Amino acid sequence: MAGWSAALVAALALGSAGTTTVPQPDAAKVCDSCAEWNAPRPPFKVFGNTYYVGVAGLSVVVIKTSDGLVLLDGGLPQSATLVEANLRKLGLRITDVRVIANSHAHYDHAGGIAALQRWSGARVVASASGARALERGQPDEADPQAGFGAEANSFPRVAAGVEVVADRGQVRVGDVTLTAHLVPGHTPGSTTWTWRSCEGSQCLDIVYADSLNAVSAPGFRFSGDATQPSRAAEFRRSIASVAALPCDILLAVHPSFAGLDEKLKARRARPKQDPFVDREACRAYAADAARRLGARLAEEASATGKAKD
Ligand SMILES: [Zn+2]
Repeated sequence: MAGWSAALVAALALGSAGTTTVPQPDAAKVCDSCAEWNAPRPPFKVFGNTYYVGVAGLSVVVIKTSDGLVLLDGGLPQSATLVEANLRKLGLRITDVRVIANSHAHYDHAGGIAALQRWSGARVVASASGARALERGQPDEADPQAGFGAEANSFPRVAAGVEVVADRGQVRVGDVTLTAHLVPGHTPGSTTWTWRSCEGSQCLDIVYADSLNAVSAPGFRFSGDATQPSRAAEFRRSIASVAALPCDILLAVHPSFAGLDEKLKARRARPKQDPFVDREACRAYAADAARRLGARLAEEASATGKAKD
């Protein structure tokens, strides 16, 4: 346990009424992309109070407030130790995390939340569907990927309970107000989070966008059929709502969705022109999602045609 800070171990020991507790991660999730996603990534400042502390392929964002820290997502179960180490590299402490907010309850974004919550004692907030899923350690039954099965989809459940936030609901921590924007589609409980961040006299709107990808287990149809309702109209509304957000900086649940590596490279090349500030980023992200959804619906329509032949 050489990686754990003395402060963290001491704080956890104090919190458990005299017994010495060493923070324990949950068992690692095994999946095709897990090792690639979970490669370490050094933490960095995005803007103002907002920092990236996630792993190579899964975003985790920390926001410094006047009353502790907010974390967005937790990556995989095996990401939690890397997130804790990244916080320490920034001079931050997991024990100062007050709130953990989730984008959607799949193992690659919610898997690390249970451990991060235990180590911090933070409140966990999510949409109603997301909260149920986090408490069960299992996606919503109506999730497009539910058909992959309970074992494939499982992640460590958040035992402490999860607070529900409604669409446009706000979560205040110190001087920071997060707003939840419910964007059902990728999951029934998908949530995009926004907040405002200032650096000197410049204040910017930051968007942490949930996935808008129409992907599913076999047999699921976004266009619906005799056994399942169409999700198409709801999904299109979600995409339109992300396009319309006040959006100076876009971060996304998978860093590649918002071109993180390209932006970091451009920032190194031209540090004075911050490539993270891009007022078209949310509209471009939404337009790409709309194209993908259109392609998926067309594929489902042609599959139906073939089935009737
Ligand atoms: Zn997902």
